[in-house]
Amino acid sequence: MPIFKNRAFTDAIILFVLFVVGYFFFSHIEAFEAIVYFADIYEEWELDEAITSLTLIGIAGFIYAVRRNYEARIELKKRKAAESNGRWLAQNDPLTKLPNRRFLNNFLQKFDDNHSLDKGTIRYAIYSIDLDGFKQVNDLHGHAGGDALLQKVADRLAKTVPDDLIIRLGGDEFLAIVDATKTQDVHRLGLSLFDAVRKPMKIDSIHAEVGASIGYVVYPDQVATLENAVRSADIAMYAAKKNASRSVVPFSHGMGEEAASRARLEHALRLAVRNDDIVPYYQPLIDFETDKVYGFEVLARWITQDGKLIEPTIFIPLAEQIGVITELSDKLLNQACEDAAKWPSDLMLSFNLSPTQLADRLIGLRIISILADKGFLPSRLEIEITESAMVHDVDSALAVLGDLQSAGIHTALDDFGTGYSSLSQIAKFNFNRIKIDRSFISEFELNEKQHNIVKAIIALGAGLDISTTAEGVETDSQLAALKALGCACGQGHLLGRPMPARQVATFIAGDGDGFAQTGRQAG
Ligand code: C2E
Ligand code: CA
Ligand code: CA
Repeated sequence: MPIFKNRAFTDAIILFVLFVVGYFFFSHIEAFEAIVYFADIYEEWELDEAITSLTLIGIAGFIYAVRRNYEARIELKKRKAAESNGRWLAQNDPLTKLPNRRFLNNFLQKFDDNHSLDKGTIRYAIYSIDLDGFKQVNDLHGHAGGDALLQKVADRLAKTVPDDLIIRLGGDEFLAIVDATKTQDVHRLGLSLFDAVRKPMKIDSIHAEVGASIGYVVYPDQVATLENAVRSADIAMYAAKKNASRSVVPFSHGMGEEAASRARLEHALRLAVRNDDIVPYYQPLIDFETDKVYGFEVLARWITQDGKLIEPTIFIPLAEQIGVITELSDKLLNQACEDAAKWPSDLMLSFNLSPTQLADRLIGLRIISILADKGFLPSRLEIEITESAMVHDVDSALAVLGDLQSAGIHTALDDFGTGYSSLSQIAKFNFNRIKIDRSFISEFELNEKQHNIVKAIIALGAGLDISTTAEGVETDSQLAALKALGCACGQGHLLGRPMPARQVATFIAGDGDGFAQTGRQAG
């Protein structure tokens, strides 16, 4: 604004000089007397009125200009305030008043540009702090309660390292950049930060508690740039999160390798989903009454470029975490419908849904639309859902199951006995089938307790008119014992291993005379 001020000043000086010069000039030629004289002789021209009017207009104009100028100044002030407020908001978190991630990014860039060669005497300990159990506080105390907790946590962290930098990275994540030249014991300082978070606090007269996972790294001892330091602290924080017994974990280079290989696996998985490298395998489901196949369960297999087979227990949870499970599941079901269309029309197709998928209320409708698209009868599809999925989010599970069942799709409760579902839930959800978990079958002949559980589950199924399938049948004696207990169906290596689509036809063709006592192996 100095330009403005200078111009106003110059204007004032010029006007003042003009005024003084004009005054002396007009006084010198006695202009006023001349005008009075002139007005007198030409009375009829009404010159005196005209001059009075001009003078009044001049005064009014002056007042008008002063007022507009005053308004403009107020407006300018407001705009300046808004600008500096906007600048503040861009770099800070309004809730905790701490600097935010954008501030950190600017800070890191400036720092690393200035200290790329000369590290000098600088030594920082960087702590990545992530709250544990914050979601529960939010659920229990509402958003206002969660906000209050975050403010308190921010406050306490700032008080623990009053001369250093605390940043809120977002959600329940914080970062501390602490001058480590004066703190020798960086681990002890990590524990202090942990204690600061963990101490119970009062929110609206209610006690609340959260935990924290903290990872830290020392710059430049362990990492070359501050940006890498932040990443490394983050990696150590994840290690702390996974390790229930240690809340404050220092970064080590092995962790970096682990994180990198995980990142590689994630990347490969995304590609595999996109390129259809994950395909359905089919495991036979056997009806014990006829000893014939009544259907196949779809089990996903990831076939890598070099022909390796990766187990679903590795990539299904990862696909959930990185958000590609929906895409993967849709592709598998599409492919399975195409394959199953070539089988005899009385064979069922059994398909697994993972717990996170049940939280998606539209999943039922999407499955129905895939069936319609492929012209696959809904009554030939059975959706398997694990017990733990039912406990996760009961309302959403009920809604999805409702959609499936009203379309005529069958439902099965998978891995029964390993979760926490109550008997009443089985009745409420209207399952068509219970699948007895493999862990019971593997031991039930030797262990009386397990034996009684299997017996009870089969009786429960019979009582509720729900079919039971025993998983993991591996031996002839297991098969005989299950049949003796009245188990309706089974699945396992003895009865048939998971196989690629091209082997299913051969398997079905060999199924004509029922199952021999010896197991069959596909390909
Ligand atoms: P699950 O649904 O309990 O599937 C049965 C698992 O038991 C399969 O493991 C199968 O290969 C294995 N199995 C079958 N018979 C025997 C036996 O006699 N002995 C032994 N030891 N194991 C047997 P798999 O294929 O590794 O699948 C593991 C889990 O991954 C599945 O457990 C299922 O929860 C999940 N999964 C597989 N495919 C999919 C999928 O397409 N979508 C989703 N959401 N989950 C899938
Ligand atoms: Ca299953
Ligand atoms: Ca199962």
